[in-house]
Amino acid sequence: MNNTMESLELRGLSETELAKACLKLGLKRFRGSQIFQWVQDKSVRTWKEMANIGVKDREVLARHFVFPLLELVQEQRAADGTRKYLFRLPDGETLECVLMDYERVQARDRHTVCVSTQVGCAVGCAFCATGLGGFRRNLSPGEIVGQVLEITWLVRQEDPEFHVTNVVFMGMGEPLLNYESVLKGINLLNSSKGQNIGMRRMTISTSGEVFRIRELARDNPQVGLAVSLHSAQDAVRDQLVPMNRKYPLVELIAACRDYSAITGRRITFEVALAEGTATADEARRMAELLKGLLAHVNLIPVNPVAETGMKRPQREKLLEFSRILEGAGITVTLREERGTDIDAACGQLRRRYGE
Ligand code: SF4
Repeated sequence: MNNTMESLELRGLSETELAKACLKLGLKRFRGSQIFQWVQDKSVRTWKEMANIGVKDREVLARHFVFPLLELVQEQRAADGTRKYLFRLPDGETLECVLMDYERVQARDRHTVCVSTQVGCAVGCAFCATGLGGFRRNLSPGEIVGQVLEITWLVRQEDPEFHVTNVVFMGMGEPLLNYESVLKGINLLNSSKGQNIGMRRMTISTSGEVFRIRELARDNPQVGLAVSLHSAQDAVRDQLVPMNRKYPLVELIAACRDYSAITGRRITFEVALAEGTATADEARRMAELLKGLLAHVNLIPVNPVAETGMKRPQREKLLEFSRILEGAGITVTLREERGTDIDAACGQLRRRYGE
């Protein structure tokens, strides 16, 4: 273990790393497992709460580890039970994350948290509020995991049985541009002695970072992959998702085909449709683009957005778009609820909840 601040950040350390660090400090190895469980499973926020660790040992530990917390700045509750949290990081930066549909009866056993992976974002998608402010910095593994832990801690104050079951990496930032930290965060969340969230219950969403999609296929952490596609035409996608200028559709889809071939997993393509893009022509192009690929398409009709002049497409147009894709053997989900304009793409939550 090296000696950087990040490496000693309590929430970002695996059980093995903690055990090694304890040995180095002259403490018993099992202290590492105890600390790991307090931090990652019980989501405690202070050394004092670690009841089975003696005061002397806690003092030693507190001198050598940093235990940075996320400070809750604001919590908003939407009518559909969704809770949005704004947290302040120790360096003063802020991030947001969302607990989806917490109070919906049908969602009672499924608690999904959408986490951020960066402060700001360098990609600059046309419809994204996060991208407007530019890139600030990457989040550390502890800060990524910390969002799930803080939400767990907060909700448990009123619901002691609460447990996060699913995580989507779709908040602020492009997850694949903070690849190592996201992967480490995934492994921490997956740990059976921690949150124990199944790999298949976690999804990374990308704007199309081809290099890392290939790396993800190679590392194959069994998580889901969602790609913000939005258009099957380079000229259009160049405008919506500037990542397309670096990796045009031909490269993106080739990487997706390789990813599916290597992992055997289906990729979800997120497609936000506005009046001008929900056309039969675009649907046919998309069907052609995705032909033979293990793909699922999520069609998301946009709500009117004043700044962009985007209008919600007519229902008939959406159904036609969906039929064309299905006719080409592609499974499709059509999202129709209020407020789901472009929230499934990474970074859309800021806009949806009115920041
Ligand atoms: S949509 Fe995602 S990748 Fe695009 S600018 Fe927003 S946060 Fe970045």
